Amino acid sequence: MGSKRASDTRLACRRCDQCGIRTGVKSDDDDVCVLQCSLCGKEYPFYKSQREDRQLRAMEEKSDMPSACNTYDTIIVGGGPGGLSAGIYALRAAMKTILIEKGAPGGQMAINKGIENYPGFIDINGFELSERFLKHAKSYGLEILQEEAIAIEPGIEFHSVRLANGKTLKAYSIILSPGGISRTLGVPGEIENLGRGVSYCATCDGFFFTGKPVAVVGGGDTALEEALYLSKIASEVHLIHRRKEFRAGRIVQQRINMEPKIKVISNAVVTNIISDGNGVSSIVVKNGEGAESELHVEGIFIFVGFAPNRKLVPAGAKMSEGGFVLTDERCESSIPGIFVIGDLRQKYANQIVVAASDGCISALAAARCVEMRKAGFTNCKLAA
Ligand SMILES: Cc1cc2nc3c(=O)[nH]c(=O)nc-3n(C[C@H](O)[C@H](O)[C@H](O)COP(=O)(O)OP(=O)(O)OC[C@H]3O[C@@H](n4cnc5c(N)ncnc54)[C@H](O)[C@@H]3O)c2cc1C
Repeated sequence: MGSKRASDTRLACRRCDQCGIRTGVKSDDDDVCVLQCSLCGKEYPFYKSQREDRQLRAMEEKSDMPSACNTYDTIIVGGGPGGLSAGIYALRAAMKTILIEKGAPGGQMAINKGIENYPGFIDINGFELSERFLKHAKSYGLEILQEEAIAIEPGIEFHSVRLANGKTLKAYSIILSPGGISRTLGVPGEIENLGRGVSYCATCDGFFFTGKPVAVVGGGDTALEEALYLSKIASEVHLIHRRKEFRAGRIVQQRINMEPKIKVISNAVVTNIISDGNGVSSIVVKNGEGAESELHVEGIFIFVGFAPNRKLVPAGAKMSEGGFVLTDERCESSIPGIFVIGDLRQKYANQIVVAASDGCISALAAARCVEMRKAGFTNCKLAA
């Protein structure tokens, strides 16, 4: 062992004939190297050759991945509550797992200042809850790669995830949890004043409008709940909705009617957001007859819908009309071995507890699916 070169110990890599996953170096000598499958533990001694050495060296140059080999049982894309919860369950199911996250772990949960409906916490800051999810996942040794996934390519034996850095990772199963983003109004002044009076998150930015007039745009549950939240902070809240009726639930509508600070403007749309140079100073509202008027507000909170992040959804996966991925009860999409969870999945409610629940279901189902795929079945739906 004494005269071996340092680089030899890290490079060798081949597929285990029992598990099908790639092996890493357990030990090596000048002539004989022992590889070991990281899943079943089977050992593979072999004699080194210069050709092998060259191939392996080239592999090392191409890859700076945290593990010796780029093949996993499952790859989780997205580190919001769905992805992190999937990570916890995947590791507990002894799957070789990596989570790809392009930003900070926690997703939308991390930007929410006060979460009052995650069981076990009467009121918790979203950043703190994200830290707790992350710490929990890391306690099982979850490998997290900070990188953007740019494509998912379904395969027969393995599915692939292409990364923005040019690398490709492979896995028997993929758990896709990239969440989504709020829709915009698309009016002049909206993008220009983002963070200067235009916001998509009242719980994050409401504090900056203490004692000031604001507008809320939208007619669903989120818009009305955020209007109620803002009525505790702002001097007045103009709730603008393009239809005559709200889509929100009855209870929240009753609470809106009982709140004197909230003034409802229905059958109207915002056509312009005006700035005085320091930030939003007014908005232009057009009513059902087409007449426009200027309304003095210093903040505008927009809740006109949510766009699921479907950029990575592979062609062929069945989608709902609204652009959400259709899955079975195990969160498996119509492509065997590709699971979709959280806000990207078609379901009744987009909430942290639901994303976390999806994470659990998908990881347990993926573990079964991986077993099936390793046994040679390409369609793990047979295991359902
Ligand atoms: C303002 C606001 C307030 C909310 N309040 C509450 C509340 O009080 N209670 C509640 O239960 N829910 C609340 N929600 C909803 C809740 O936050 C979401 O339902 C939940 O976060 C969805 O989790 P997710 O894991 O599906 O996705 P997300 O939380 O959206 O996380 C997705 C992650 O994937 C990453 N990602 C995306 N694309 C890629 C890519 N290509 N490569 C790598 N990484 C990628 C993102 O960076 C992100 O971190 C709120 C949402 C918002 C916007």
